[in-house]
Amino acid sequence: MKNRRTISLILYLVVLVLLFSWVTGMFSRNANTIPYSQLVELFQEEQVKRFVVKDDTITLELRVPYNGKTTISSKLANPQGFRLEMKDLLDSQRESGVLEAYDFLPERQFSPYDLVMPLLLVGIALIFLWGMLMGRMNNNNPLNSFGKARTVLGVPDGKKVTFADVAGADEEKQELQEIVDFLRSPAKYTDIGARIPHGLLLVGPPGTGKTLLARAVAGEADVQFLSISGSDFVEMYVGVGASRVRDLFEQAKKMAPAIIFIDEIDAVGRKRGSGLGGGHDEKEQTLNQLLVEMDGFGRTEGVIVLAATNRPDILDPALLRPGRFDRQIHVGAPDVKGREEILKVHAKGKRLDGAVDLKQVARATSGFTGADLSNLLNEAAILAARNNRPVLNMEDLNEAMMKIVAGPAKKSRVHTRKDLKTTAIHEAGHAVAMYRLPTHDPVRQISIVPRGNSLGATWYLPKDDSSNMTRNEMYEQIVGLLGGRVAEDLFVGDISVGASNDIDRATKLAKDMVARYGMCERLGTVSYLDDGEVFIGRDYQNTKSYSEKVAGAIDEEVKKLIDKAYAQCKEILSADGDKLKAVVDYLLEHESMTGEQFADLMEGKTLSETSATSLFDGFETEPSETDSQEEI
Ligand code: ADP
Ligand code: MG
Ligand code: ZN
Repeated sequence: MKNRRTISLILYLVVLVLLFSWVTGMFSRNANTIPYSQLVELFQEEQVKRFVVKDDTITLELRVPYNGKTTISSKLANPQGFRLEMKDLLDSQRESGVLEAYDFLPERQFSPYDLVMPLLLVGIALIFLWGMLMGRMNNNNPLNSFGKARTVLGVPDGKKVTFADVAGADEEKQELQEIVDFLRSPAKYTDIGARIPHGLLLVGPPGTGKTLLARAVAGEADVQFLSISGSDFVEMYVGVGASRVRDLFEQAKKMAPAIIFIDEIDAVGRKRGSGLGGGHDEKEQTLNQLLVEMDGFGRTEGVIVLAATNRPDILDPALLRPGRFDRQIHVGAPDVKGREEILKVHAKGKRLDGAVDLKQVARATSGFTGADLSNLLNEAAILAARNNRPVLNMEDLNEAMMKIVAGPAKKSRVHTRKDLKTTAIHEAGHAVAMYRLPTHDPVRQISIVPRGNSLGATWYLPKDDSSNMTRNEMYEQIVGLLGGRVAEDLFVGDISVGASNDIDRATKLAKDMVARYGMCERLGTVSYLDDGEVFIGRDYQNTKSYSEKVAGAIDEEVKKLIDKAYAQCKEILSADGDKLKAVVDYLLEHESMTGEQFADLMEGKTLSETSATSLFDGFETEPSETDSQEEI
């Protein structure tokens, strides 16, 4: 059916193009590109190399371009007259060789064939129109598909996905198993009077496997799977989205038992009245229709609606009411164990060096989502292949990880020595400051190889997955972030824009401490910041839930906090000036430095030159709690 649509669409386009060219051809017959007098002038100036006259059109080849072209055409009002008038000139020019060749082709008589093309086109157009009208009745026509749901039947790429393909995510799978069970044998549940959820919302950050899980449910249950993306409902034409929703549910009911999967539902499900200008716009109609449909079908019909979003906070509350998406499954970034399993899944079919320790990789990738991990292995494989190695090793993984964290290395980018030195001082400043801060995560690597948008980088990776931060930790993060700018201030004597991202992050942290987490005495334990998205037309007036006076106090406290951090950072770096300079020298020579080398240098030890840099250092497999748990 999809094929038929494309074919008829292409046919339609072809007809359109033909019609268009025919019509324009008709008009161009009356067009005159150059005035007659100028045409004659061209001949008199001996510009014409050769020409041909056919019907009433003369086509000239010129020595010097006219209007930028050496071949031009023009209409002749009276070709015979032209021939007579020019005869002498043409003869003499032909003789002298100025005119290389010319020809007057016999004038064509009107023939019945002239009518064939237009008639054919009109015929095709008529047939097409007729087809369109018929199509309205049997729903097969591309022009009629505006109001149809652009669903993908079955799994998009044809590959059947099951729970086995989803690594980690055990709780999520368990919850979804119920749905699978119901779809397989609905009677078991309905007989006992159990109420099966209508709609199920998968909530979680991008790349955590929401789409994958939904596909796995369909694969496990072996039922029809209608998937559509929320943005497919969003059309410019009023009413189209709503009719697509209606169509989608109709299709599903016919196919029951079936799963409807609406990916990225936030595109349609935004809070009503939140669009630009508010009011009853297209999106609102679509959302209303969705609500109606979800209410409308009974529980026994065997249709379950799954939806995925990473912004549940902006969904219209009506969507989350009982009877609609009354169940939410949170899909989060995986923990160490989940990461290792995901890595194992994606390592299948890739040739890994024996020394690759996926456990170690899993430990070092705290915060990575399933998509990130899959991407990591893929990038590593690409790197190995590019270097003509048959297997991928830890080095590839390390390079791939840096690429993902900070964008690909731009080794080709040329840097002046001065630039490099400023960058080295900046990064060394971060590293030394972090080193001297008791709660700061250890430095893993310092580099002045430009990556992505940044000139250099200092990596510190948290040892654990903990996301809870204390006031001290947050404050010391700020000090560490300012390290780059302070070092420039102290040792370059001038400051650069390279620190703008650091300053942004430091300011945000300080603002969070003061106004979100109640970590500042003057403002008390009150949260003034609101996480919600600002919508023009709805929340614009009331985003600020505090007075001007409080706003002023927040600004003052933020500034105070940053100033304090800046002063402390300056103190640290001044005291460690020699060490910082040693780091800079090393960086200028080697471009990057491992956390270990850096620590050695700070301790005053001699550097171990041989050890290769790796982001995985410090995450080696060692007997740990998780391991011993596994053994039991
Ligand atoms: P989301 O829809 O949450 O943004 P996807 O389901 O599209 O994320 O996941 C993107 C890719 O990441 C998947 O195609 C898969 O390759 C990988 N992935 C994510 N989570 C997992 C997981 N738990 N197990 C295996 N692969 C995963
Ligand atoms: Mg998705
Ligand atoms: Zn910086």
